[in-house]
Amino acid sequence: MPLSDATAEPPMVDYALCGAGLQNCLLVAALRDISPKRSFTLLEAETVAGNHTWCFYGSDLSERARAFVRPMVTHQWPRYEVRFPDYFRVMETSYSMMASGDVAAHVERIASQAPGRLEVGTAVGHAEAERVTLEDGTTREAAVVVDARGARKPAVRCGYQKFYGEEVTLAEDHDILHPIVMDATVPQVDGYRFMYVLPLGSRHLLVEDTSFSSTADLDDDNRRAGIRDWLTRQRLSIRHVLRTERGVLPMPIERDSGRQAERGNAPESQGAIEGGYRGGWFHPGTGYSVALAAQLAELVAGTATDVVAAVVARAARERERGAGFYRLLNRMLFDHYRPEDRRSIFQRFYRMPASLIERFYAMACTPGDKTRLLLGKPPRGFHLRRPAAQSLAASHPGKAA
Ligand SMILES: Cc1cc2nc3c(=O)[nH]c(=O)nc-3n(C[C@H](O)[C@H](O)[C@H](O)COP(=O)(O)OP(=O)(O)OC[C@H]3O[C@@H](n4cnc5c(N)ncnc54)[C@H](O)[C@@H]3O)c2cc1C
Repeated sequence: MPLSDATAEPPMVDYALCGAGLQNCLLVAALRDISPKRSFTLLEAETVAGNHTWCFYGSDLSERARAFVRPMVTHQWPRYEVRFPDYFRVMETSYSMMASGDVAAHVERIASQAPGRLEVGTAVGHAEAERVTLEDGTTREAAVVVDARGARKPAVRCGYQKFYGEEVTLAEDHDILHPIVMDATVPQVDGYRFMYVLPLGSRHLLVEDTSFSSTADLDDDNRRAGIRDWLTRQRLSIRHVLRTERGVLPMPIERDSGRQAERGNAPESQGAIEGGYRGGWFHPGTGYSVALAAQLAELVAGTATDVVAAVVARAARERERGAGFYRLLNRMLFDHYRPEDRRSIFQRFYRMPASLIERFYAMACTPGDKTRLLLGKPPRGFHLRRPAAQSLAASHPGKAA
């Protein structure tokens, strides 16, 4: 089947997938593995998979999700590290990266063969439970519609993970063996600030100047300078900038009552299934979404089409209940700690057992993990008693663990 064929009569399919970003690319990969006979139409206004590098921890995904994600993985490292002013740790948890090009190649391969179909340059105007109306007025009918057209503007109070990154070639070899997920030894300006570094080749790095900030504005020039300062400190210099990327990811502090999971209980009142960012399938504590988008993809691909809306609605409500804990942590981080004190929280966090850290990122904290994070029993985490926390952070910055 051609990649795009405007003259063909659109067939009735099992799934109409709106937006070919992370969520629906994962769903296409999951369908290929789990329900290969089901038909789908993938509708994308611009480019399949956009311009991203998507990363995740090995412990974020189920066995099944790992299998359908694997063909899209560009780099995988067996471990990663974090750096703080007086603390350094190598975490024995694998870390993977998917580049847009590899995601797009895999998805286009699947979607170019029956029972798939890809329509690029196709803007969706309106998505309903079983019908999509395109901006040109034509329609696509499907048993299930998944609307993953990216984030809406957050309707609630948020902090932000924001970053500007450059993929660069260097004038000399570096000696970075695995990802530095946080190098927080940099000056703490604009919130909790750190450098994020992926070694992609002996002279090839992705470096992102990142912060967990109370504001959404991102100054690219300032971040560009931060990247150069960091490289200079490593005695490295840029030969070429291959690519840049930037993001301002919401870290919600409050519950979003407008979201699908919060609206009515009857599946028929839900309209299209909202996936990805739009449907709240992201980690409130990081703004990242591979883990949750893969969960949704696995659920949709593995559930009969006539009941999937109800099953997803239930899963979304459960997810929202679990997300409350992470929003509470955000509230404490952004409301109760001064920006310059936030680094100490992360330094303490990374002293905790590796298994707890893995569950935190997979949004699978146990009640015991939550208690440990909140009460700050040794090693100390967030503190429920704010004044004590603030005086501690002020008197021992970065040393409280
Ligand atoms: C630069 C950047 C880096 C990130 N890195 C990570 C990371 O490392 N790990 C992680 O877990 N998360 C990361 N995130 C966060 C999150 O994973 C992404 O935002 C993710 O892409 C969200 O997936 P999505 O499918 O909801 O939306 P998107 O991936 O944004 O996809 C939405 C798609 O819908 C299309 N679209 C929009 N409107 C229409 C329309 N009317 N009709 C048809 N198509 C339409 C868009 O063109 C786009 O292709 C990153 C975000 C950014 C911005």
